[in-house]
Amino acid sequence: MILVMMLVTIATVIGLRHDLDLTFKADFGDVRIGQVGGLAVNEFGELHIFHRGENVWNSFSFDADNVYTLKYFPIEVDAVVVLYKNGTLKRSFGNYTYFLPHGLTLDFEGNIWLTDVALHQVFRIPKDGRDPDLTLGYKFEPGSDTDHFCKPTDVAVLSTGEFFVADGYCNSRVIKFDKYGYFVKQWGTKSVLRNSDGFPPPGTFNFPHGLTLAEDKGKVCVADRENGRIQCFDFDGHFLNQMHPKQFGRAVYAIEYSQSHGGILFAVNGPKNNPQDVETKGFTLDINSGELLSTWNIPESGLMHPHDVAVDENNHIVYVGELNPRQVWKLNMPETLYASKSGLKRWELIGILVTIPVLVLILILVLLWLQHNGKLVRKSKKKPPPVAKDYGIDAETADTGLDISQYSVTYSQTKVPDQIFV
Ligand code: ZN
Repeated sequence: MILVMMLVTIATVIGLRHDLDLTFKADFGDVRIGQVGGLAVNEFGELHIFHRGENVWNSFSFDADNVYTLKYFPIEVDAVVVLYKNGTLKRSFGNYTYFLPHGLTLDFEGNIWLTDVALHQVFRIPKDGRDPDLTLGYKFEPGSDTDHFCKPTDVAVLSTGEFFVADGYCNSRVIKFDKYGYFVKQWGTKSVLRNSDGFPPPGTFNFPHGLTLAEDKGKVCVADRENGRIQCFDFDGHFLNQMHPKQFGRAVYAIEYSQSHGGILFAVNGPKNNPQDVETKGFTLDINSGELLSTWNIPESGLMHPHDVAVDENNHIVYVGELNPRQVWKLNMPETLYASKSGLKRWELIGILVTIPVLVLILILVLLWLQHNGKLVRKSKKKPPPVAKDYGIDAETADTGLDISQYSVTYSQTKVPDQIFV
């Protein structure tokens, strides 16, 4: 049976090795798209983008106290852009409002959650609205208490309305809020220590840069960017597991959960800082085991500086937003990633076709072994005799002195062809 499981696993992994396919160019209408901070897709396959317009984050953007230095230069164009599934513009809003867009999240009601690292704030925009109905943090005021953020990076919202904020570039913590926006708890610190695995202790962060929820698994996972790993916690902040395959290299920028294939994470790593760094690319991981299932990339150019990843479950699409080039990529998931949700697909058929002959072989070997060791009884050529009513046993058996239990076995097998036991 172990052999069979191994073969099925191999067949599955082979099916996952296919790269994703590039198919798409987005049309942003009159909006000049800037560096892409955050991405998310709603139930209709509509892509929401939070971008930086003409603004860029450079070494002059903040002073030594993490205060933004260009307060009079908001993004002039609409910083939030919504595209239809076919890539054409649906709507846009948010001009002269935001400064350095970072994270964008859609919750179960379709509300749009934004983080702006220059403003040090978190915003909730009602579905189809333009202005926030909930604002957390204070404009241009960095801080580390329960009312302030310091360059918050991302939000994740539970179906209960409770939500988590990754905070962020300075504070190395994740904060949980109730559905009204009141502080519940926080976890995470910064650490310079390294465990025997070469990574800092679980629960410590070096830029918690992205969040994703696997609510069906009871997990909120964090892209622990500069530690080059993904950490997952329960909804009370208790550490569950971490993933850091060497292919991540120095940094993991963004993650997104998909229920496909029993639960997977899509991830993108950071750009190369020097030629020796690992290739910038996308990753698919099993959220249960942490196993790296596959890597993928944009044909020819490859990913340069990906900043966020989003998944359209219904249409089996993965989007990647980049800082440089200022681009959104649309990629089709390989069928192998979602096949298990809709009946038998190619990889499953491969598994079955491999498994059946192996099972038959094992059955034959077991039968031969049993026969060789005398565990099988040769079938009697005689028909079973009538039972003697007086004694409750077969009359012929009684006459010949055969053991009654042995005879019973022979009788039960009279419908099986003789040659099997030859
Ligand atoms: Zn970032």
